[in-house]
Amino acid sequence: MMKVDKEKCIGCGACVSLCPDTFAMKNSKATVISEKDCDEAMNACPVAAIEQVE
Ligand code: SF4
Repeated sequence: MMKVDKEKCIGCGACVSLCPDTFAMKNSKATVISEKDCDEAMNACPVAAIEQVE
């Protein structure tokens, strides 16, 4: 599943736009809401805050 580093996240919303099933915004940061993978968001994040974990 995906993981967001909330220290790095700048709240741009790109990951939510690309994969709304996987990410949602919470307190202006992205948060993971399902175990569905989303490589597009990982590649698109401008600050590399998204990683894939087991
Ligand atoms: Fe945060 Fe990256 Fe998602 Fe933008 S794409 S909201 S910086 S995790």
